[in-house]
Amino acid sequence: MRISVAIDGPAGAGKSTIAKLVAKRFNLMYINTGSMYRAVALAAKENNIDENKIEDLCKLIDTMDMEFRDDDLFLNGENIQDKITMPEISVIVSKYAAIKEVREKLVKLQREMSRKFDVIMDGRDIGTVVLKDSKFKFFLTATAEARAERRYKELKMRGLDVDYDTILEDIIKRDYYDSHREVDPLRKAEDAIEIDSTNLSIFEVTEKISSIIEKNL
Ligand code: C5P
Repeated sequence: MRISVAIDGPAGAGKSTIAKLVAKRFNLMYINTGSMYRAVALAAKENNIDENKIEDLCKLIDTMDMEFRDDDLFLNGENIQDKITMPEISVIVSKYAAIKEVREKLVKLQREMSRKFDVIMDGRDIGTVVLKDSKFKFFLTATAEARAERRYKELKMRGLDVDYDTILEDIIKRDYYDSHREVDPLRKAEDAIEIDSTNLSIFEVTEKISSIIEKNL
């Protein structure tokens, strides 16, 4: 029986940092599903395909070979991690992620990965859709301000010229859009354990999640 761990929650809640640490601890493959939606947005932008051209988008996705190597996403052999985490992708990604056909294709790929490997996946619909039979489901939250602060520091560290208020605005908009879309909106699975990380360190959250996994393995 394969191990699968689901971590959902709004933007900037610390999902990816924590998922990477838990992945190392239990030797799981870390799959950042947000990166996959970002890759679609990047490829669509580069090919001038807007969110209304669903057929073109589906054809485009069929040409995309996505592979995670050491936590970075490679698209057709190219490491696109830096490109997909740029703010210009953050502001367009949710439009593409709301499209039913796009989600069907990516969910299929994500489930294939979970059949082949022991995985920890983070995203918005992992506990409710992608890995809905998983034994380990977590829902990570934090205030919008705390999440914006973390994103701001992360982008500043990369040397990007970013502004806190713009990031906060993007996070609030994206959360609203992600939780109000028709298809697989962001919501906590009934059987997920909710963790508010506003006043917890990365270490504390990682320990909390790891001890629950350890007890129930
Ligand atoms: O996790 P991250 O913030 O990088 O995700 C970017 C966007 O991708 C989210 O705002 C959301 O619109 C979309 N997404 C999604 N379902 C997932 C993961 C991400 O709709 N499982």
